[in-house]
Amino acid sequence: MNLKQLVKKEVSALRAYQAKEISCSVKLDANESPYGFRAALRAAAAIQTNRYPDPEAKKLRAVLARDLGVRPQNILQGNGSDEIIYHLIATFGGPVLYPVPTFSMYGIISQVLGEKKVAVPLDRDFDLDQGKMLKALRKNRPRIVFLSTPNNPTGNCFSSDRILKIVESSPGIVVVDEAYQPFASDKGFLPLLKDYKNLVIMRTLSKIGLAAIRFGFLVADEEIIHEVNKVRLPFNVNALSQAVAVEVLKDRKALRTVIRTIAAERDLLMRAMEGISTITTFPSEANFILFRVADPDRIHTELLRRGILIRNVADAVEGCLRVTVGTPRENRKFLHALRSCMKESS
Ligand code: PMP
Repeated sequence: MNLKQLVKKEVSALRAYQAKEISCSVKLDANESPYGFRAALRAAAAIQTNRYPDPEAKKLRAVLARDLGVRPQNILQGNGSDEIIYHLIATFGGPVLYPVPTFSMYGIISQVLGEKKVAVPLDRDFDLDQGKMLKALRKNRPRIVFLSTPNNPTGNCFSSDRILKIVESSPGIVVVDEAYQPFASDKGFLPLLKDYKNLVIMRTLSKIGLAAIRFGFLVADEEIIHEVNKVRLPFNVNALSQAVAVEVLKDRKALRTVIRTIAAERDLLMRAMEGISTITTFPSEANFILFRVADPDRIHTELLRRGILIRNVADAVEGCLRVTVGTPRENRKFLHALRSCMKESS
């Protein structure tokens, strides 16, 4: 057997996703929330470990539907929104179009599934380039378009009018990925779902304190949910995750407080970073900040030497690093370390 020849060529050409565990004292690399919901774990105690979970996650979908003002039939559950991306591409196929730089999974999963990828550069302000996007739509007739807003790793929201123009001009599905929407100042695209049948919205609990339980979901027209549900494996969201998510979502006030705290901390962190003359920050509506330095590799390493782990995104955005908003104490430590690294380099 020749294993190299046996593996599909699209998979063979890939490298496994690097979610490395790097030891550090302040972890600000993965856009997680610094605040967990430990008390919600008590809900897991009631689980019958010998039984399969509810395959339809009925309780959880009902709670989400109530919160979002949609019907449970408009929600499809995923093992993280990564899995929803997989399900969407498996259902509709390619070409898959997305602006770049953006979240890497749109491209990786397209490649795994052997679908054509079309990457269209953002404009200089990291907004959608209307002309280029419309041209690419006409030329490639994508079956799916992914738009992350706020966008990862740039942090900004795309202009609503440009998003809507793409929804109106697309021959296929337009996925608005709202992983970071809870931190943004606008309301997001949920209110527009009823007006556009080809618009679907992706959300996740990962950024608001529940990354450990892996839960993301799709909100869409019932007919779309019906089709995508055919590729979902029967018990994709486990019982522990369902129970803990329901418990956390029950207390909307607590969740809202956490989200507000993180958004306020982001604004403070931004102001402090803007005061460092040797770096350039970019506006953020998310729970992280993108910034440019002269020597990103060195600053990344120097910060890590001081125990601070952030993300080096220089391969996607020239000269840039991305820091996740942490607790006030973590942010202070990061700022202190960053200032001292920058001083050394000047
Ligand atoms: N979309 C975007 C834009 C993201 O940044 C991420 C996580 N980095 C995801 C989706 C995936 O989130 P999860 O699978 O944890 O729900």
